[in-house]
Amino acid sequence: MPVPTPALDRAAAQMAAAGVDALLLGPGADLRYLVGYRALPLERLTLLVARADGRHALLVPRLERPRAEDSGAGGAVAIQDFAETDDPFALAARCLDGLPPGAVLGAGDRLWSTFLLGLQDALPSASWVRASTVTRELRMRKAPDEVDALRRAGQAIDRVHAQVPGLLKAGRTESEVGRDIADAILAEGHQTVNFVIVGSGPNGASPHHETGSRVLADGDAIVVDIGGTLDGYCSDCTRDYVVGDPPDGYAEAHAALETAQAAACDAVHPGVTAAAIDAAARDVLSAAGYGGHFVHRTGHGIGLEEHEDPYIVAGNDLALAPGMAFSIEPGVYLPGRFGMRIEDIVVVTDDGCERLNTLDRAAVAVAP
Ligand code: ZN
Ligand code: ZN
Ligand code: ZN
Repeated sequence: MPVPTPALDRAAAQMAAAGVDALLLGPGADLRYLVGYRALPLERLTLLVARADGRHALLVPRLERPRAEDSGAGGAVAIQDFAETDDPFALAARCLDGLPPGAVLGAGDRLWSTFLLGLQDALPSASWVRASTVTRELRMRKAPDEVDALRRAGQAIDRVHAQVPGLLKAGRTESEVGRDIADAILAEGHQTVNFVIVGSGPNGASPHHETGSRVLADGDAIVVDIGGTLDGYCSDCTRDYVVGDPPDGYAEAHAALETAQAAACDAVHPGVTAAAIDAAARDVLSAAGYGGHFVHRTGHGIGLEEHEDPYIVAGNDLALAPGMAFSIEPGVYLPGRFGMRIEDIVVVTDDGCERLNTLDRAAVAVAP
């Protein structure tokens, strides 16, 4: 008999409390969180049926069965496979045998519509909610082993940032620098590179600038925002660099940004709302005259996914609790001139927070 993982048991309890009878999860972070299976996102259905009554099943295409078994998921749930000519939606419906008509089903938030529509046809009397009504509560509060994984990822990305000054040189393109950074992300222990943003000069004023062909020049301010996945958990860290002397107005803006980022980190305590953390950063930048140039929320949760709950944004009255992990990344963007952002991942502790990124936050000056 399979023995559910602790996460599956917590999910079952949460489902019972929320009045959800079962979760139907396709490939993605919720499925990985619950049973540790990194399912491929295929046109064939892969579906974890997690039931409040504990009768869980993992439905996989027959050719995927070896991968599912190698993941160890079979220790936690019964694996059922189906042949190319079977109707996977009918099989999924059978995994819900015994539930009353009108059962409440949580569809994975990232479940493709082609699968959800097929399931809805096969289960016409069910009512549907987002699976995140159950999984959000679980995944937001990281267990100690998850915090360890995030800490290792944070230390690895810090080691990459420590190498960035050696890669920046007037005459190199953003893309050349970006490729070296991507190599370093892997060399420092990540299994995958999730993104590399090298925003030089005016490009830095676009927060998600796509690293491109611009040639670095003397006097450029450069935003470097990088992240990867290490042992399943994500890193994400931004630091600022300047080649030669900083442009006019840069030093004052960066001083305000450092104060804002520190204020937001200092404000993190259990019971404080996510909105209050956003306000802590925004108030400093507004008072310094940069409020209109801080064009995004202060942060996002991080874990198995690069961006997940909780979002650190005005209007989010969620009270922070120990174990929650998120970025604090205020920025200042002056179109046509330059941009800057400072980003650390923090984890809420019993009396404040731990920063998982610890490199100095001042802009690093590099000789041209
Ligand atoms: Zn971002
Ligand atoms: Zn970032
Ligand atoms: Zn981020």
